[in-house]
Amino acid sequence: MEKRVIPFSPPDISELEINEVAEALRSGWITTGPRVKSLEKRLAEYCHTSKVVCLNSATAAEELNFRICGIGEGDEVIVPAYTYTASASAAIHCGAKVVFLDSQKDCVEMDYEAIAEKINEKTKAIVAVDLGGIICDYEKLYEVVEKKRALFRAKEGNSLGARIQQALNRVLIFSDAAHALGASRNGKMAGSIADFTDFSFHAVKNFTTAEGGASTWRNIPSVSNEEIYHQFQLYSLHGQSKDALAKTQVGAWEYDIIGPWYKCNMTDIMAAIGLRQLDRYDGMWKRRGEIVGKYDAMCDEMGVKHLVHSGENFQSSNHLYLSRVPGIGDRERREIIVKLAERGVNCNVHYKPLPMMTAYKELGWDIKDFPNAYGYYENLITLPLHTLLSDDDVDYVIENYREVVGEYLK
Ligand SMILES: *Cc1c(COP(=O)(O)O)cnc(C)c1O
Repeated sequence: MEKRVIPFSPPDISELEINEVAEALRSGWITTGPRVKSLEKRLAEYCHTSKVVCLNSATAAEELNFRICGIGEGDEVIVPAYTYTASASAAIHCGAKVVFLDSQKDCVEMDYEAIAEKINEKTKAIVAVDLGGIICDYEKLYEVVEKKRALFRAKEGNSLGARIQQALNRVLIFSDAAHALGASRNGKMAGSIADFTDFSFHAVKNFTTAEGGASTWRNIPSVSNEEIYHQFQLYSLHGQSKDALAKTQVGAWEYDIIGPWYKCNMTDIMAAIGLRQLDRYDGMWKRRGEIVGKYDAMCDEMGVKHLVHSGENFQSSNHLYLSRVPGIGDRERREIIVKLAERGVNCNVHYKPLPMMTAYKELGWDIKDFPNAYGYYENLITLPLHTLLSDDDVDYVIENYREVVGEYLK
């Protein structure tokens, strides 16, 4: 086979997105406006939730999810060690303390049994990460927080965050669904399962607006979705507010700043990309599924472990293809990635566990305490999985993976 160059995860942008962006640019409205509102409506329908707020990243969405729920200084948030930094850093931005949790043995998901031991009177939230677009076992998470209800100390007072905590009166469940738009489990869509969910529309994700992200949430008893939505607008746009009367009066210029808040809104140019991506999303998801099927057949035949993207009660978003070569360690894994790259097949690793990163080491975490996360990482290779791969490209990846990895299986 002639050498090809297979990029890891290029964005799939068609003329439809390009034309919509051009129209947005010509429309005279380029920042947050009608295209953002329209994308929010369509995403809420897609996720089966009441409201979606579009923002400039998943990290901002996760941070605002915490802030909306009043989580901050003095609170603890449980996060899997096996994830991307944003799952943890958003809680740190809010002043909360992150408590890392190891994975289950030989499994990408966190150790649900160990969560109960980590919950104490300071615990306010668990972040579940739907890695690769496979939805976690939220039923189990709800069971755990239900059992630990007696330990939960809701924030006092009448702020929105306090009222949300009082209404739920248990540890809150957040989903980092950066990978999982469109995934489902037990008949429920990602976004409609956790208390609050964030999605990423970064350039490498299944669905992109170049940069971007969104928040959504489940209805909370006695807290209005309108109020939550409005607070997201304030948090993401400087805390700037115009009262209802001012908005209706001619020549009204005056506004108030009700909090010294943040700037992380989505622009209509970004939303223009998203609107047309959403039109194409089901087709892109199907194509990813075909590639997953081919990689599954290869791995199963070779005896290589891999993420399972669909089953009786779940269907992933087909975001990442994680393969794990049995019997090798970190050194061999690195060799394989280099050999594949020399053949033009660009792979990746999802993820180097957070306790191995400088920032988290400096916070006192040590990978020795996370043996299962390390064990999952050390022989892991993520294969290129995207909609710009032709069938011949996929065959090329498979042929090279068989040859290179085959050498290590003898
Ligand atoms: C990409 C990613 C994020 C961050 O997304 P941004 O939109 O870049 O902020 C968060 N969590 C996970 C698991 C991711 O892969």
